[in-house]
Amino acid sequence: MSQKYEPHIIEEKWQRIWEEKNVFVVTEDTSRQKYYLLEMFPYPSGKIHMGHVRNYSIGDIIARFLRMRGFNVLHPMGWDSFGMPAENAAIQHGTHPAKWTRENITYMKTQLKSMGLSYDWTRETATFTPEYYKWNQWFFLKMYEKGLAYKKKSYVNWCPKCSTVLANEQVIDGLCWRCDSLAEKRELEQWFLKITAYAEELLSDLDKLTGWPERVGTMQRNWIGKSIGAEVDFPIDNSQDKIKVFTTRPDTLYGATFMSIAPEHPMAEKLTVKSQESEVSRFMEKIKKQDRRSQAETLLEKEGVWTGSYCINPLTNKKMPVYIANFVLMEYGTGAVMAVPAHDQRDFEFAKKYNLPLQVVIQPQKRGQILNLFPETMTEAYVDDGIMVNSQQFNGMNNRDAMDAIVKELEEKGTGKKSVSYKLKDWGISRQRYWGCPIPLIYCDSCGIVPAPYEKLPVILPEDIKLTGEGGSPLAQSDEFIKTRCPWCGSSSARRETDTMDTFIDSSWYFLRYTSPSEDTSPFDKDKAKYWMPVDQYIGGIEHAVLHLLYSRFFTKVIRDLGLVQIDEPFTNLLTQGMVIKDGAKMSKSKGNVVDPDDLIKKYGADTARVFSLFAAPPEKDLDWSDEGVEGAYRFLNRVWRLVLESGVRSQESGVKEKTTPQSPVPSPQSPLWQEMNRTIKKVTEDIERFHFNTGIGALMEYINFLSRYEDKESKEFRGAVESLIVLLSPFAPHICEELWREIGNKELLANMLWPSYNEDALVKQEVTLVVQINGKVRSRLNIPAGSSQKQAEDTAFNDSKVKEWLQGKGIKKVVYIQDKILNIVAG
Ligand SMILES: [Zn+2]
Ligand SMILES: [Zn+2]
Repeated sequence: MSQKYEPHIIEEKWQRIWEEKNVFVVTEDTSRQKYYLLEMFPYPSGKIHMGHVRNYSIGDIIARFLRMRGFNVLHPMGWDSFGMPAENAAIQHGTHPAKWTRENITYMKTQLKSMGLSYDWTRETATFTPEYYKWNQWFFLKMYEKGLAYKKKSYVNWCPKCSTVLANEQVIDGLCWRCDSLAEKRELEQWFLKITAYAEELLSDLDKLTGWPERVGTMQRNWIGKSIGAEVDFPIDNSQDKIKVFTTRPDTLYGATFMSIAPEHPMAEKLTVKSQESEVSRFMEKIKKQDRRSQAETLLEKEGVWTGSYCINPLTNKKMPVYIANFVLMEYGTGAVMAVPAHDQRDFEFAKKYNLPLQVVIQPQKRGQILNLFPETMTEAYVDDGIMVNSQQFNGMNNRDAMDAIVKELEEKGTGKKSVSYKLKDWGISRQRYWGCPIPLIYCDSCGIVPAPYEKLPVILPEDIKLTGEGGSPLAQSDEFIKTRCPWCGSSSARRETDTMDTFIDSSWYFLRYTSPSEDTSPFDKDKAKYWMPVDQYIGGIEHAVLHLLYSRFFTKVIRDLGLVQIDEPFTNLLTQGMVIKDGAKMSKSKGNVVDPDDLIKKYGADTARVFSLFAAPPEKDLDWSDEGVEGAYRFLNRVWRLVLESGVRSQESGVKEKTTPQSPVPSPQSPLWQEMNRTIKKVTEDIERFHFNTGIGALMEYINFLSRYEDKESKEFRGAVESLIVLLSPFAPHICEELWREIGNKELLANMLWPSYNEDALVKQEVTLVVQINGKVRSRLNIPAGSSQKQAEDTAFNDSKVKEWLQGKGIKKVVYIQDKILNIVAG
């Protein structure tokens, strides 16, 4: 063979051999411990990017390492292949989303294969195939049966010019992404999944996820947003009606001086009195154009309009004007907020703007002194704790204690009760788009909503749809799709639902499908899922901390309650890798700082790409791209190449037996070579276990320095040390190692070898320096075997020439020995 390291030749060769020999294909094997390793599957957008290279390199090193340690490793890959980019590409280039998607998958699959990733490709799954999305529909119908899927009116972004619904991502600074028209809110009937039914469990089970990064748990906790407080009824003045409010601050109830309700509140119209009608409708028109649900919400100027009505504070019996306010959202709580301007900053600003009264009910306390606040001089709301005032029998209490007392009072009066509230809302899954999974429901004039029969699934997404990007749901254009017979009464004028499902549903259970990807009588084989689940290690970006990772947890719990799995949580451990940065910014087309993995692999090979992305930074940190770093990784692999092929290793016979760790004459115990080898095995093993891949590679670099300096490169011992180098490096750079392994005469595939263990004896310090003191002064330092007895230490010391000199003509009076440290001689 050529002595030159030519990655493209050896990489293709070994990828082919691994595939032909089904090296990474796995089946259930109860005799071995299973390990399910999963990286978040990609969207087939066209090409893989450096973020993918990094994510998959991280996964692959763990997969290969654990295989070599004897685990039965499931490491699958697939495609999250429904969604807007395909539909947009189709609109812009006149192609079909299915064609675009298939071509991208084909190309990206070649790219992934060129990285030498150890996937079991027989389990490849794509969510846009009817074999997959059939089960989305099945799950939807099961949830519908259980009341977990329901329909209600909800607001969507709407472009009046394109007359279409816009996804949140399609509204850029309040404008339609295509035509720059001002996006509006429009109310449409939408399907929802009742994720709130699992709110408490989704929250409390976060405590079990000790293998997740702390901040992901925190983000989910905040997203679920549990708060404990009270539900309070405020009767409407001169009416039987009442407004229901949820508050986390029942202690401030005596300070509630007005009421703010959401513009969409069902009572808004009824509460508006004749004389206020024109002002209210002007206000409603104005806020229609405001983006009240975005992150800009906090910057939005607080505005409102009086309805002309009053409600009654149930504790003070005072009249409170009812306002419609732009900052109150119907989706949160009850859509009505009791306004306590003295103790809530938003209410404070609103009250100042509209000249509404402030009532202080909590006074701050400092060192036992109550400081009096006066409404006239307050410049901001007082939101902290203190002593209750202006609150009748609760005056003088600590406000924290008053919370429970006031709720009790409300309960006695029958106008309120203790209540728990969550920020988490039900999951709106209707999408007025084409490239997604059809919602399997039928509308019949006589029967109402009728589920598609299970035996008729999948409801196939028709391919002959013209995509223009205008109008409502594209599926509504297809008569052939819409018109169907009612499964219940047989009426021929029934119509199919034309919305498709949010693509987050596709990714909420795909990890289960991998356990039995060709199962066709249920979403997955129960026994196989029982063997493989949960995913032991999941790897993906922090951007999925909330939606995908929360939806997957929700689906898992629903699927458990359907009796298909026994687990409560899908992902035991989670690693969120950092971004790939170049020139100080995340790689992106718009910044022009993208490095194409194809070019990198073509020039240096996949092994270099892998070693670089693992060496440049710990996985959870951002990786700063550097050309020198890539060059460095390439040089390192070249050094390994030369060291192995230019030493005498090839002339030494292999002692390796099948599937075992290297057995050829290892360096003899206690030799420096032996010690270095064992230290390196320990270090690399522990570093991979802790995902400190960069320091693991660092240890291998030191090891190769050591081996390069080693004198007898023709010896059998050296061969043993080199074999360990190749095995330890192989999860990082599998191709070059497989080639070198074969090149030094091994028949068995390196990928099938077991990981070496290390000898603890080699890690113990073998020699210590003994300090010899004579009459309190240091007279000599001697190297002696660690753990020597006093007798052994004395024998060595009394034979030392320096010691002999100092003791000449003196008698030994006393000897004190501290093992491995000091020999103290008193002489005179
Ligand atoms: Zn538009
Ligand atoms: Zn019917």
